[in-house]
Amino acid sequence: MTRIDHTLSALVLALFGSSLQAAELNVPANAPPIISDYLSMRGANQLPRPTPHQGIDISGPVGMEILAAADGVVRDVEIADCWGPTIVIDHGLGFDSKPLVAVYGHLGHVAVKRGQRVLRGQHVAVLGDNHGSFDCVVGIRHLHFQLGRQWRSGAKGSYWGHVRFLVDGRSGVNPHRYWADGPGRVTCYQPGKRYRSGTLTYPAPCK
Ligand SMILES: [Zn+2]
Repeated sequence: MTRIDHTLSALVLALFGSSLQAAELNVPANAPPIISDYLSMRGANQLPRPTPHQGIDISGPVGMEILAAADGVVRDVEIADCWGPTIVIDHGLGFDSKPLVAVYGHLGHVAVKRGQRVLRGQHVAVLGDNHGSFDCVVGIRHLHFQLGRQWRSGAKGSYWGHVRFLVDGRSGVNPHRYWADGPGRVTCYQPGKRYRSGTLTYPAPCK
């Protein structure tokens, strides 16, 4: 490739990185679908977003179980104004020794309490029929799963959305780097199977 081709490639990657990434992503056919991927410029409703998506949106029916993506400790359980029922789980350190804090947003019923220890694959919530009640859910029932490095502990003041729960909410960590089967390989949780610590399994059950 010429230098100009390289520059064009970099530009295309910058503009359409999420769709290129989607092409390289391996999602098992039986996994509930990702309807808005990390860094997508379209939301769960497929309309343009003002800023790149900092998590992944997984759609599913009412009652779909939400599973802990790794062992951890529940830090927040809250019904947020815009996001609806939301939990934050501190998953400890990733395999790269960097902290992994996950926000599970737009939930229905929540099955865990603040301070509770959870195990990978544990049922922590379900999707509900409340997707019309919170503006940030954009009328489409889905889980918003976002990774960060630093939980916002203590007073949250008027912070809302991702930065209410993560100090680094505006620069979400790419969850596709951490799947147990390897980067870009979405890994369904299988009960009884052992997984390498510091990796994630999909936060929704594959059927
Ligand atoms: Zn989202």
